[in-house]
Amino acid sequence: MDNNRACKMATRLASDALERRLSFFERLRLRLHLAMCDPCRTCKSEMKLLHDVLKQLQDKGGPDQSSLSDKDRDAIRLALQTTCNESVEQP
Ligand SMILES: [Zn+2]
Repeated sequence: MDNNRACKMATRLASDALERRLSFFERLRLRLHLAMCDPCRTCKSEMKLLHDVLKQLQDKGGPDQSSLSDKDRDAIRLALQTTCNESVEQP
């Protein structure tokens, strides 16, 4: 079983999907994995949620905008990926 690596791949693809358009095969791989992996499904929706929140902050152009640099966003994304991959046991 190579489940852990498959999960990491899926998490990365899910994260990439928020930043760019995935290729047909990437989407296929992601969907196939999500179809059989609950933790990654949860992880993907959390990622989407966070992404939407960040986007809203940016779109508003409020005082928070400048505090959220590309580096910050990358750090958050990385943290989320790590969390997703390590919290497979969580409900
Ligand atoms: Zn998985």
